Amino acid sequence: MALWFLRGLRRGVVTTGYPAVVDAWARTLPTPPAFDPRQLTTELVDELADLCPSGALSRDPQNLVLDIGRCSACGLCNARAGGAARPSAAFELTATSRGRLVVHVPIEGAAP
Ligand code: SF4
Repeated sequence: MALWFLRGLRRGVVTTGYPAVVDAWARTLPTPPAFDPRQLTTELVDELADLCPSGALSRDPQNLVLDIGRCSACGLCNARAGGAARPSAAFELTATSRGRLVVHVPIEGAAP
């Protein structure tokens, strides 16, 4: 904290441009996953739901259900799902209701 403060004084920058300008370092933040529906199969979704340590992933008959409010952005699902998932880079995740944090992603991939 002290180093950050001293660097700000030395450079003459004590605040950032956020939210008008997103700082470059924000792109390195761990973020919840984003899924590609075309690469999701029911088998993969069930496997990811079992893998998720915080219970943020589940499946209804036709969708992967991601509860962003429970996701800790650990990255396990991204590592396991290969091209079917990637970090979303979304970090502005406040919502006015709990339901807005639950995302339904259609399962469009065919089973192997
Ligand atoms: S990033 Fe981690 S906590 Fe979030 S959905 Fe994937 S496995 Fe679950």
